[in-house]
Amino acid sequence: MYKISLITGDGIGPELSESVIQVLNAVNDKLGVKVQVTKLEAGDAALKKTGKALPDETLDEIKKSDACLKAPVGESAADVIVVLRRLLDLYANIRPAKSYPNMPALKENIDMVIVRENTEDLYTGMEFDLGETSVALRTISKSASERIAKYAFMTAEQRNGKKKVTCVHKSNVMKKTDGLFSRSCQEIAKNYPKISFDQMYVDACAMNLIRQPEYFDVIVTTNLFGDILSDEASQVVGGLGMAPAANIGDKFALFEPVHGAAFDIAGKQVANPSSFILSTKMMFEWLGMKNNDKSCYDVAKKIEDAVYGIVREGIKTKDIGGNKSTSEFTQSVISRIT
Ligand code: ATP
Repeated sequence: MYKISLITGDGIGPELSESVIQVLNAVNDKLGVKVQVTKLEAGDAALKKTGKALPDETLDEIKKSDACLKAPVGESAADVIVVLRRLLDLYANIRPAKSYPNMPALKENIDMVIVRENTEDLYTGMEFDLGETSVALRTISKSASERIAKYAFMTAEQRNGKKKVTCVHKSNVMKKTDGLFSRSCQEIAKNYPKISFDQMYVDACAMNLIRQPEYFDVIVTTNLFGDILSDEASQVVGGLGMAPAANIGDKFALFEPVHGAAFDIAGKQVANPSSFILSTKMMFEWLGMKNNDKSCYDVAKKIEDAVYGIVREGIKTKDIGGNKSTSEFTQSVISRIT
């Protein structure tokens, strides 16, 4: 029995969480893996209710669980996810982008994963005012850069892809910080002679994601660039509604959609739950790897096949060109989990 903590979030978060709970119930009922889900509060609603965006009880429950699923939260996102990433040392943010049949992707043969450093860069919140100038500190360390580079090369080894890592930065302008990141990746690359390695400036990468997205296999990059490029990559293969993410550390992991709380469509039953359902699929892969539990890999595969199977048949939500509601789409996914 795996204990799963679930932050239900804000905006479309509760609707997506309901979908994921139904998928997990189907896993419990029909497949060989048992999970126990604990629903938790964090985000704007929790802040209003308890005075804390990340209440202590939520953090305690997360720490007691085997893995955490997190729906998007609103304005207080930085006080929830950025804090969780740091407290739990979830240093690798993994964001796959793959084209699938009947999805509005730019090209048919896109299959990449963005490995984003998750603990440093401009996201540490070190900002201050100096008179009428505001300053943000960008920290990049050798140890964090090498750690994420290793993760990227290991990912390239394990994937059935082009066996290539592209290090993305802007070292021609940020000579110190991105210079260090680039050198660290080059150093680690020497330990992986079977994986090809190249480097690209972030502006060129943003362009090539549109022009030649099939070029990429594994992209390794810093926190802010990774955040921006992964939103772009998700659009290249069909949109944010299909984009899952994993935040991985050595001991624990948290899984969440790439997108935010999307208040504009909240409560309307039009949100695409795939982003969160596919994040759940990534959770089962991670549980399988961590616990050497093959049945978790089987569950992950069944969830993925169910989602893309119905999309292939034209059962889609509005954002990807269909007319199914969140719950209708979820029901179709569940009916394919056998
Ligand atoms: P954040 O800055 O927190 O990432 P944001 O305000 O940039 O959030 P998102 O909430 O990520 O924006 O969403 C951007 C738009 O994408 C939304 O307005 C919504 O229309 C669309 N969108 C995001 N997620 C989904 C989804 N799961 N299903 C359908 N549409 C979505």
